[in-house]
Amino acid sequence: MYVISIVCVLIAAVTAGGADLESGAGYSVHGIKLRSRSDQQLISELQQSVDLDIWQYGLPEGQDTLVMLSPENRVEVLDELDAKGIEHYLHLADVKQALETHAEEVKQWKQQSRSGGAVPFNDYPRYAEVDAYMESIAAQYPNLVTIVNAGKSFEGRDIKYLKISTTNFADASKPIYFMDAMMHAREWVTTPPTLYSIHRLVENLRDQDKDLLEDVDWIILPIANPDGYEYTHINSSTRMWRKTRSVNPEISENCIGVDPNRNFDTHWNTTGVSPNPCAETFPGNEAFSEPETRIVRDILLEHLDRMQVYMNIHSHGNWVLYGFDNYTLPPNYIHLHLVGASMGSVMDTMKLPQADWYKVGNSAMVFYETSGSAQDYGQLVGVPLSYTLELPGYGYGFLVPPQFIDHINKETWEGIAVTARMARIYHQSGL
Ligand SMILES: [Zn+2]
Repeated sequence: MYVISIVCVLIAAVTAGGADLESGAGYSVHGIKLRSRSDQQLISELQQSVDLDIWQYGLPEGQDTLVMLSPENRVEVLDELDAKGIEHYLHLADVKQALETHAEEVKQWKQQSRSGGAVPFNDYPRYAEVDAYMESIAAQYPNLVTIVNAGKSFEGRDIKYLKISTTNFADASKPIYFMDAMMHAREWVTTPPTLYSIHRLVENLRDQDKDLLEDVDWIILPIANPDGYEYTHINSSTRMWRKTRSVNPEISENCIGVDPNRNFDTHWNTTGVSPNPCAETFPGNEAFSEPETRIVRDILLEHLDRMQVYMNIHSHGNWVLYGFDNYTLPPNYIHLHLVGASMGSVMDTMKLPQADWYKVGNSAMVFYETSGSAQDYGQLVGVPLSYTLELPGYGYGFLVPPQFIDHINKETWEGIAVTARMARIYHQSGL
C-alpha cells in the first residue's frame, strides 16, 4: 500500500487534478459579501462547475464567504461575481507565502514546545504522536479507558478511538457522546480539541466536570482520515488536501480520494457534489466506498441504542449545524437548535476578538443543499443530537497559527461540556 501511495503522490504532483497546489503560487483567497440566498446558490453552483474551493461558508448580511481561487479559475469566478454585482475583495493575496509562513510557525512551535515537554493537544501532532498519546492514556488508565482499533485506512493506517467510561460501557442508563475530527485532512485545528477532551476527562478531571465523566460514556476518534492528514504534512503543496487518499483506477487514473463528508449513505450523490473525481466534493463511486467512512458508520450503528450526541468536527467558520441537508428538519429540531445554540453561546462567551460569532442552524437553510454528510447520516440512523461543528479560523483559514490551539481547546471543551449535560438530561427524560 505504501508503494502505491508513493506512486500516487508523484502522479498527483504532476497533474492538475485534486487539491495539490504545487507550490501554492498564484493561489489567492477572496472574501465574498453575500446579499441573498441566490448569491449563496451561485457559490454552490460555482463549487460544482469550477471546483471552487470554499474555505468558509458565508451568510447573507452576516458572514463573508471565503474561497480560494487558482490561476485557472480566478478570472472566470471573479467575472461571474462582477456580472452578478456581488461585492468581493482580496482576503489573502499569496497562498504560497501563507503556506510557508504557516510551515515555519508550526516548525518553531514544535521545537519550542518539545523542549518544554509539550503535550500533543497543544500542538499539531502527527498521526504517530496521536496514536502514542492514545495508547499511553489507555495503558495508564485501564479502568477508565479502552482503546479500540476500528480498522485500517485505505493506505493501511490503524484508525483508533478511545472509549472512556467509569462503568466500562455497561450502564445502559448513560448516554453516549461520540465526537470525531479530521475527516477533512487540511482542517488541522480539529484534532487538538478531541485530544484535549481526553485530557480533561481522564488526566485532568476537575471537580466541576466530574458529572461528565460519571454520567456520560465517551467515544473519541481524533483522526478519522489519517491518510489525508499525513499527506497534508508532506510539504506546502499538499497542505490543502481535503479528501481521503483512496486510489481507484477504474474511476480515474489521475485523481485520488473522495470527500468523506459526501460519502455517507444519506441522499448520497444527489446534491452539493461533483461527478468529477478530481473535485473537492467528489462523493465516491458508491456510498461508503471509503474505509474511513465505514468505520464512522459502524461506530454510530454499534452504539445507536444510547448514543445521544454525534459531534462531527470540522473547520472553519464558527458554525453549529444540524440536519437535514435537503431542507427537511428532523422531528426534534427544536431540541437540536436549543442544544446547538447553548453550545454556540457558551463558546462565544470565551471568543477571541479575531473570531467570528458562532451561528447555529439547519445546514441547508443557512447554506445550501448537500448530500452524504456524516451529520445527516448520524441523524438519519437515530442519533438525537447530530451536529457538524465548524471551529474558528481566526482569519487564517485552515492555517491557524499554533498559538491559538490552547484557546480553541478550552473554548471548544466548554461547548462540548454543555452539549453533554443537555444530552444527559434528555437521555434521562427519555427524549
Ligand atoms: Zn470539513
